Amino acid sequence: MSSKPTVISVIGSLNVDLVTRTPRVPVAGETLTSESFDIGFGGKGANQAVACARLSRTEKQAASGEASDVEVRMVGAVGEDQFAPDFLKSLQKDGLNTSKIQVLPGKKTGVAVIIVESQTGENRIMFCPGANYDVPVADLVDSDASVALFQLELPMDVVLHNMKVARDKGVETIINPAPAIPLPDEAYQGLGHLLVNETEAAILSGISNPTSWDEVAAVFVSRGVKNIIITLGGEGVYYQTDKLHSQSQAGKLVPARKVKVVDTTAAGDTFVGAYSVAIARWKLNASDTELDLDEVIAFANRAASMTVQKKGAQSSIPWVDEVPIA
Ligand code: ATP
Repeated sequence: MSSKPTVISVIGSLNVDLVTRTPRVPVAGETLTSESFDIGFGGKGANQAVACARLSRTEKQAASGEASDVEVRMVGAVGEDQFAPDFLKSLQKDGLNTSKIQVLPGKKTGVAVIIVESQTGENRIMFCPGANYDVPVADLVDSDASVALFQLELPMDVVLHNMKVARDKGVETIINPAPAIPLPDEAYQGLGHLLVNETEAAILSGISNPTSWDEVAAVFVSRGVKNIIITLGGEGVYYQTDKLHSQSQAGKLVPARKVKVVDTTAAGDTFVGAYSVAIARWKLNASDTELDLDEVIAFANRAASMTVQKKGAQSSIPWVDEVPIA
């Protein structure tokens, strides 16, 4: 192991989930007593950063502060409010470097107020982005990073600017464009890794009823993406690369693990985290060798298969020693 860790910079959102469960949703003007109330830390950025941290160290290593070969740096913003200290502590407990999270005076941490109707299981969510939308359009990707991981819960100009900064610095770029909205061409040019689920693939490619995933992947390759990964839930993962495409080869399907599914929340975030760790390790140890995407995706599948067997969001993301070897 090299003495210097490989760094994953996660440039993304930090949100607090305020979750109430009620038997039914109150009507206008009505006050209902709820069954329960919980506070959870999330946001796609923070969830994927937690996944990166847990999938590159054991819980014991994180608790003792022992260094891992992967450093996970969360980059984003919270408000100077009552949520921020506990949020940062929780991320540090997972082994994350929080020094690049700005605490913005006079701002509020991003919050999702969630009402779960227990009779139907339906959610009603009010999202207030708060400090996430005050992240400045500035260079946020450090030169020592090997991987920069993005989602779409920060302002688009912050994401686009920093994808370019990362590319210019030779940092491997990964994006999980969720929540999905069509992206401008500049987002795709020279993009290392595009990780999407089926819905995101349809929205971003503009193809809603594809005859094959190769048809969808071809659109992304033509826009300049090197590796296209489409997660298909329990069906597995499709991937295509610019190299395979240029040799007129079809993409490949890697099957998902057969497990008993309890709750798929955070499966996507776990997959993205595990994938990013594997790419960061490849950059650290063997970037002069051909990237073995079958191996990367198999690890991400095994990690996400653990998440779907547990209830909860961040709490269901496994530590690396909980991921089966095969
Ligand atoms: P979510 O929004 O539920 O977090 P997603 O829609 O972003 O997930 P999916 O394609 O549903 O992404 O799932 C991501 C990964 O999780 C899959 O590629 C797979 O590795 C794992 N996974 C999801 N569903 C199953 C399942 N039923 N069985 C095994 N693995 C699964």
